[in-house]
Amino acid sequence: MDTNIATNTDKLISSLIEKVSYLPKEDIEKIKETAYYIVDKHKGQFRKSGEPYHTHPIEVAKIVAGLKLDTASIISALLHDIVEDTNTPLEEIREKFGEEIAFIVDGLTKISKHKFNSKEEAEAENFRKMLVAMGKDFRVILVKLADRLHNMRTLDALRPEKQRRIANETLKIYAPIASRIGLWKIKSELEDLSFKYLHPEDYKKIVEFISHSKDEQERFLKDIIKRVEKELKTYGIEATIQYRVKHLYSIYEKLFRKNLTLNQVYDIYGIRILVNDIKDCYLTLGLIHQLWRPIEGRIKDYIANPKPNNYQALHTSVITEKGKIVEFQIKTYKMHEIAEKGIAAHFRYKGGKYLTDKDLEIFRWLWVVLESIRNSKDTETLKDLKENLNKELTTEEIYVLTPKGDIIKLPLDATPVDFAYKIHTEVGHRTVGAKVNGQIVSLDTKLKTGDIVEIKTGKKPNPKKDWLRFVRTSKARTSIRQFLSKQLKEENYNLGKKLLDKFLRKIDKSFKELTEDEKEKITKRFGFHNFEDLVISIGSGKLSPAKVVSFLSTNEVFNREISQRKTEGCKTKDICIEVDGISNIMLNIAKCCMPIPGEDIVGVVVKGKGISIHNKDCPNIQKILKKEPERILPSKWSDKKLKTFPVKLRIITDDKPGILANISSTIANQKVNITGINSKSTSLKTAIINLQIEVYDINQLNKIINSLKGLKGIRKVERIRLRNI
Ligand code: MN
Repeated sequence: MDTNIATNTDKLISSLIEKVSYLPKEDIEKIKETAYYIVDKHKGQFRKSGEPYHTHPIEVAKIVAGLKLDTASIISALLHDIVEDTNTPLEEIREKFGEEIAFIVDGLTKISKHKFNSKEEAEAENFRKMLVAMGKDFRVILVKLADRLHNMRTLDALRPEKQRRIANETLKIYAPIASRIGLWKIKSELEDLSFKYLHPEDYKKIVEFISHSKDEQERFLKDIIKRVEKELKTYGIEATIQYRVKHLYSIYEKLFRKNLTLNQVYDIYGIRILVNDIKDCYLTLGLIHQLWRPIEGRIKDYIANPKPNNYQALHTSVITEKGKIVEFQIKTYKMHEIAEKGIAAHFRYKGGKYLTDKDLEIFRWLWVVLESIRNSKDTETLKDLKENLNKELTTEEIYVLTPKGDIIKLPLDATPVDFAYKIHTEVGHRTVGAKVNGQIVSLDTKLKTGDIVEIKTGKKPNPKKDWLRFVRTSKARTSIRQFLSKQLKEENYNLGKKLLDKFLRKIDKSFKELTEDEKEKITKRFGFHNFEDLVISIGSGKLSPAKVVSFLSTNEVFNREISQRKTEGCKTKDICIEVDGISNIMLNIAKCCMPIPGEDIVGVVVKGKGISIHNKDCPNIQKILKKEPERILPSKWSDKKLKTFPVKLRIITDDKPGILANISSTIANQKVNITGINSKSTSLKTAIINLQIEVYDINQLNKIINSLKGLKGIRKVERIRLRNI
C-alpha cells in the first residue's frame, strides 16, 4: 500500500514538474522539494474519495502551472491547505518560504473555527479575509480559483446536499470572478460543473443532444469554414480557423432565457479566426459580412472598445443560407493568448519578474471592485457579502477612481460628465474638461473600470444641452435638465422684461415704473399665478407684450377717464365698441379713415392715448400690420345705436343753381344732420360740394348716398377720408 502511494505520488509530482518546465531550473527544484514537503505534512490524511490528501494540492498546483504563473503561485498552491489542515504554523511557512508566499497562503487559510459564535459568522469573516488578501495580491484569487476548480472536478465523492451548496456558491461567486478576470476556460468549466450538480436532468439532455447532432453540425461548420478559408486566401490573409462547442451552461442559459427548444439553438458552435494583426481582423470581418448577412446588434468591436478585463476581439453573428446562425470571433494570436490565459497571461514569468507596474494597472479594476465591496459595510453577513459580490461582478457597472484614490461606482458606458455629477452637482455644472489616466479626453469618453478621472471645472456653471446625448446616470441627466430649464427661464424672463419694457415705452411707461397694483392686474387678466411667470411667457413668445400693454393702457386711460369725467366729461363716452373682448373703454375714432358702425374696424394701441379705432382697410392699418402687428387689436361695433358719426362726402354736380338746396333737403328728409358744407366751382360746367354729415351707421350712409345719386344734375357722390382731400 505504502509503496503504491509512493509510486503514484512520484508520478503525480512528475506530472507537475512537466507542467512547470517554463520556469528556471532552480525554481523547478524548489517546487519539487515543496511537493515532497507537503506530501509529508498531509501524511495520513485522505480525501472523501479515499485518495491521499496531497493529491489535491498537487492537482491545484498543476492547474496553476497550466496558467503559466510564477514560482510563488505554484508553491503557494502546494501549501494552500497546510496551515488549516495540518499542525504547521504560518510562522514555519514564513521562515521556510518567505513573506510573499506566507501572505498568499494566509489569504487562503480560514480563521480557526473556535473564534466564532456561529458557522455563518465564521464563513462571513473568512470570505472577507480572502477578499482583503485578494485585493493585496492577485495570486490569492488565482490559486483560490484553481483550488475551487479541483474541488468541483472531484465533487462526486460528496453528499448531494453538499454538492449543491458548493455548486451554487461556485456558480454565483467563483465563476463570475473567473469571468471578470478573463479566465474563460476556468469560468466555463466551473459553470459546466456547477450546472451538472444543480440541474442534472437538463445537463444530461444537452450532453445527449450535442452528441446526437454532432456529425451533422460538424459537416455544416466544415462547409462554412471552407468558404471562409477560400475567401481569406483570395485576399492573402493568413489565418487559423477553429471551431468549438459552446460550453454547456451557456447553451442551457440560452435555452432558459429565450425559452427555446434545443433544436432552435443553432449557435451551439462558434468559429474562431486567428490572424496576424488588427488590420486583418477588420478585413476578415468585412469578408465574412460579404459572404453572409450579419445580425444587427450582434457585431461587437472589442478591439476598439476592450471589455473591462481587457478582452479584445471582433464578434459577429451571421445568418447562413439555411437560416442557421453562426457566431464568429476574430482576433489576433496575441489577443487570443491573453483571452485564454486572462490575467494569468500577464503573470507569466518574465525573466525574474512576474509583474510589471503596467500589468498591475490593467488589473486595477479588480482591486477596485473588491475594495468597494470590502468598504461597503462592517457587519455584513456572508449572504449579503456574497450577494453583493455577485451583483458587483455580474451587473453592468464600472469603478473609477478620483485622483485621491476614492472609488466611484458608475453604470457601464458612463462618461466624465457622469463622474463629475456623481462627485457633486456643482462640479458637474462647472465641468469644462476631463483627464482620464492623465490624458485629456472628450467629455463623451466612455470610462472603464480602474480609470483615474480628473475633472476640470470653470468658474461659472455651464452645463451643455449636448451632454444629455451621452450621459448615462439619471443624476447627471436630471441635474443638467434642471439647470437648463432654470437657465431658459432666466433667459426668457430677461427677454420678456426687455420686450415688455419696449412696448411700455410706446405708452410712455417703463418696466421699472410698473406698480405692484398694475403687475397684479395684468397677472390676473392674463391668467398667471405670478408676475414673473407672465414675463417669462412673454419672453418665450407665448404672450404678446402688445396685448399686455394695450390692456394696461386702456385700463389706465379708462381709469383716467373716470377721474376726468367728474370734471370735464368725455366726448366719446357713448361710443360702443368692443376691443378684443373688452368693452367700455376709452377709444377714439381715427381721423384718417373715420369708420362708422357697420364697417369692419380694428383698434390700434397709440402711446399715451389708448386705442384708436380704424377702418380695417385703412392704409395706415396696412402699414402698422407690416411693422408692428402686435399693436393691432380685433375690434367690433356693439349693437347699440347710441351715437352718430361724422362722414365726409364729396359730390360733383352740374354747376347749376338750386342743386345745393336739393341736396340739403334730401339729407334732411332722412333725419340726418349736416354739420358742414362748402362748395366751389371748378370749371365752366361742374361744381364740387364737400359735405359733412352725422350718421348712425353704414346703412344710413348708403341710403343717403343712393338718394343723392338719384338727384338731377348729380354726377358723382363719393365718401372721402381726411387724407384724401
Ligand atoms: Mn484546497
